[in-house]
Amino acid sequence: MYYSPGSPPYGNYNHPMVTVAAPQPLTPEYGYASYHYAPQYQEPAFMPYYVSPVQSVPYYSTAYPNNSYPSPPIQTSYSPQYMYQQNSPPIPQQTVSHDKILSGAPKENCLVAKGRKVHVDHRTMTMEQLQPFLIPFKMTNAELETNAYPMFREGSRTASIAETTYTLNKKMFLDDFDMKRTCSRCQKEFKLRPDGTMVREKDICRYHHRGTNRNGKRDTFQKRYTCCNEEYNSTPGCKFSDVHVFDQLFKKELATFYATPRPTSANDPRSNKAYALDCEMVYTVAGPALARLTMVDMYKNMVLDLFIKPPTEVLDPNTEFSGLTMETINNAKDTMASCHQKLFKFVNSETILIGHSLESDLKAMRIVHTNVIDTAILFRSSGDFKVALKNLSAKLLHKNIQGDNEDAVGHDSLEDAGTCVDLIFYGLKNPESVVIRK
Ligand SMILES: [Zn+2]
Ligand SMILES: [Zn+2]
Repeated sequence: MYYSPGSPPYGNYNHPMVTVAAPQPLTPEYGYASYHYAPQYQEPAFMPYYVSPVQSVPYYSTAYPNNSYPSPPIQTSYSPQYMYQQNSPPIPQQTVSHDKILSGAPKENCLVAKGRKVHVDHRTMTMEQLQPFLIPFKMTNAELETNAYPMFREGSRTASIAETTYTLNKKMFLDDFDMKRTCSRCQKEFKLRPDGTMVREKDICRYHHRGTNRNGKRDTFQKRYTCCNEEYNSTPGCKFSDVHVFDQLFKKELATFYATPRPTSANDPRSNKAYALDCEMVYTVAGPALARLTMVDMYKNMVLDLFIKPPTEVLDPNTEFSGLTMETINNAKDTMASCHQKLFKFVNSETILIGHSLESDLKAMRIVHTNVIDTAILFRSSGDFKVALKNLSAKLLHKNIQGDNEDAVGHDSLEDAGTCVDLIFYGLKNPESVVIRK
């Protein structure tokens, strides 16, 4: 199928179009039951993106004989000016008014004459074309380390996880016979029974299940819990449970981490893919455990949605956050081992994995992976803090996720993973919004 000039995806782009050969279908050797291809990507004859030809690699274009079309520059130090062309093509007269953009007209395909910003719709690219644009967003090893990503230190078979400002002064790891815990909901210290079982007692754990926000003007502001609208620290909690829960990990678990597998060859189809993933965790007697893993590709097609039965007794399904119930968990078919097996059909060590604070997902999956884009690191608050996915989505994408009232139950890992994909495309289109901290 060919688009003629003037039809989508470059509806208001007046340049002559170059038709592009369709990408070759992938062989289904990795068990793609039905792989959805991206819409066929059409390049304008003049690509404003490519500033300097760096190298020649095979490229899907019939307009450039012998595959001589330059690939996008691959840079280790990222500079947003690469997103703009030095010698811009003439800006077509048909522009979109500022009001129209603000009123929610699709920003895709729009051209803004002022600022000489010419958008290329990354969403219509094939994965092979998109991948080089994602590389500058990846975290460095130093960033992975300081953001508590599980890593293998040279020569060690045991993973290590560094302390961060968020975990400082908190006990992160437990020795086998350590009976002391801190409840991650009510912050109370508690002890297990001498035989290692959890104490259950009516309403022993009282907590607020949502964070606080500030209402009112500066001089009258009050910090209130969003769950019950009670004033901050005025009540011990609006939710009750018969059991405390904890977030610490047993030290010995660090020996159970796997690195994502190396590519089987230079043509390993997993190597140039990117996926966004999100996990849901439940509380067990052995700490937080992976219970759901959802992974989508860059076109938001669901690639994996696995329900995992934790190996130890579940204390609390954490429904407000996980969206999971005891029934779902009891009916879960997958184990950690089958989850790894299914994940590694799509993901090798070179695959880019995208997530929001992905370190906690990798920890739950017991996986070490270093090709990572973390949307919590990519987009930061003005005070350089992490921003919750829900808030980023509302602010940048104008989309409410995870519910905005008390009745909304749980995160949906599919929605969260899809939101991460949307944020990546937002960052590609609005490079000034992205914090590149190299
Ligand atoms: Zn508690
Ligand atoms: Zn509350």
